[in-house]
Amino acid sequence: MKRIAVYCGSSIGASSDYEQAAIALGNELAQRGIGLVYGGSRTGLMGAVADAVLKAGGEVIGIIPHHLAHREIAHEQLTKLIKVDSMHERKHQMMDLSDGFIAMPGGAGTMEEYFEVITWSQIGLHKKPCGLLNVKGYYNPLIHLFDHMVQEQFLKGRYAALNLVAEQPHELLEQMANFRHPDEL
Ligand code: AMP
Repeated sequence: MKRIAVYCGSSIGASSDYEQAAIALGNELAQRGIGLVYGGSRTGLMGAVADAVLKAGGEVIGIIPHHLAHREIAHEQLTKLIKVDSMHERKHQMMDLSDGFIAMPGGAGTMEEYFEVITWSQIGLHKKPCGLLNVKGYYNPLIHLFDHMVQEQFLKGRYAALNLVAEQPHELLEQMANFRHPDEL
């Protein structure tokens, strides 16, 4: 994996554990020589992960729509900041540039972006690994919901495996490196 997209909160969260996890993920990416692709903001966990990668000497590509550059405070010290015209173009470019996708804790925006890459994998539009960094069990309710979807037969069991989960960045990156899409097994 050359680059990974990280979706995460534009807020910092209620506990400093979230920021620490963003820094740990940024360090881990830089150590492995994996570039970060993200939404280009300086705020919240988005800023924390980008700063950690930059500080550790790694590559960071930010992609931000013009209309959000002010509101989300575009990060001007990135390796590359790409300004685009729409949210759709942002997501499209993030997906194209990345070899895998991670969701750290975040809000509705993070979920929207993560669900798009999961659902596109389900219908075969890409075969790249997708994973949740489950800091402090933040995603436990979502993981239960996925189990419930399988149990109630609204999600095929084999597609539940598209959603990798780990508490530590190195574990998640290992799982992603070893991922094979269920359609190829
Ligand atoms: P949040 O998790 O709500 O703090 O949002 C994290 C990031 O997701 C922010 O950069 C938002 O701009 C972005 N975002 C919010 N809604 C959408 C959307 N509909 N499509 C793509 N990105 C979004």
